[in-house]
Amino acid sequence: MNQETLPPHVLIFPLPLQGPVNSMFKLAELLCLSGLHVTFLVTDHIHTRLLKYSNIQSRFNAYPGFRLETISDGLPENHTRSGAELMEMFDSLKVKTKILLKDLLTSGKLNSDSRRPVTCIISDGIMGYTCDVANDVGLPIIYVRTISACCLWVFFCLPKLIESGELPFSEDDDLDTPIKSIPGMEGFFRRRDLPMFCRSGDLSDPNVNLYLPEVTENARAHGLILNTFDDLEGPILAQIRAFCPKLYTIGPLHSHLKYKLLGQSSSSPTSSNSLWKEDMSCITWLDSQPTKSVLYVSFGSLAVMTKEQYMEFWHGLVNSGSRFLWVIRPDAVNTDPTDIPLELSKGTEERGYIIGWAPQEEVLAHRAVGGFLTHSGWNSTLESVIEGVPMICWPYFLDQQVNSRYVGEVWKLGLDMKDTCDRVIIEKTVRELMEDRKDEFRKSADEMAKFAKQCLMECGSSYSNLERLVKDIKSM
Ligand code: UDP
Repeated sequence: MNQETLPPHVLIFPLPLQGPVNSMFKLAELLCLSGLHVTFLVTDHIHTRLLKYSNIQSRFNAYPGFRLETISDGLPENHTRSGAELMEMFDSLKVKTKILLKDLLTSGKLNSDSRRPVTCIISDGIMGYTCDVANDVGLPIIYVRTISACCLWVFFCLPKLIESGELPFSEDDDLDTPIKSIPGMEGFFRRRDLPMFCRSGDLSDPNVNLYLPEVTENARAHGLILNTFDDLEGPILAQIRAFCPKLYTIGPLHSHLKYKLLGQSSSSPTSSNSLWKEDMSCITWLDSQPTKSVLYVSFGSLAVMTKEQYMEFWHGLVNSGSRFLWVIRPDAVNTDPTDIPLELSKGTEERGYIIGWAPQEEVLAHRAVGGFLTHSGWNSTLESVIEGVPMICWPYFLDQQVNSRYVGEVWKLGLDMKDTCDRVIIEKTVRELMEDRKDEFRKSADEMAKFAKQCLMECGSSYSNLERLVKDIKSM
């Protein structure tokens, strides 16, 4: 077959963590639906877990142009790849996987009679070495950032913050001091809303090194894909566009895919890319609960709390009197699981349900869910936004401190509980969201959900931007 008549072939390489794998897999599906060939490259570690827990296997049949390929992250099998050891994974990817990626692209392994050689790479922009590899092998590269645009903009402004003397500061300084040198965030953004690592008081912190070059790094790629939508982050996107003019805002990706599949009357409207086993019994439990009565509680795939924090949440939730569905991952608390209560007492067990991992998109779309106590991870935030579910934010790290400020202060979609973990405050905040101020929050959440849905309709901003992205990839 004449290779030139075949569709372009995109290699997608996500950061090997649950959130980025989730959203970039949706992107892979969207590109397949647009007629492109896609090779989705995951580390061996992620591959094993996807095969075990997700329905990724069944997706192969849905898209003839889809392939899954694996690469080593260079770490031993028993490495945790989380918590304090997360940075070791970043380092290993940068050194070891970089070499393997170049070998993979030059080996001819990704070519076949029915596919062109790779014509474009799409990778997570935090892995800047993928751009070096793309340049070495002469391929165009587009970055994806799976964090919020507002946090990416904070990263872009890190050099400015240092230049102006606003960084460094330490945990002991006044965290309510306003930040002045981030354009577009004047007036409401404080030290405590900066990513957690900014509080270290140390400019040689490995995270500072990782994120300081963002502004120059992102401009190296041919384009930048963001999982967001114009009505949510418009003013910040205008700032980012000055540095990255080829910006494609095509989110919320998970719903974008759902809409496309529904438009094609596909019989399998959802895909699951879970790295843990989803406990579907919670849906049956939700079915028996009154409408908008349940607070869904989940802190994502990476956050780890202390036993003391866990106990504060436990008492706060129970004392609030609210119904709740709480996800407690097996590794969510840094103590022996036998050392903490996991069973609810009589009286509370009718209004509380605890599981190890949820089918989160389905949970947030359930009519019984009326609030989300979240760590403000970007995927979780977007999943909540499109379903019109107001949030209580308890940010843990990375972009979460920034996201929670936007949720509480800019978008008015909920309450930001950052830097506190006290049972009385938790109880009070839950009552405020689920009872006292529920109408106010539901109104603004419904409005934002409407905007999110509109941007996915034909001619909506995310819809049109995806078309532009596909056109640009085809022209490469
Ligand atoms: N998630 C899930 N079940 C759970 C908790 C989380 O499927 O019980 C999914 C959630 O839908 C989201 C992802 O895990 O897509 C978490 O990503 P996020 O960016 O919110 O946070 P991170 O895990 O990266 O901190």
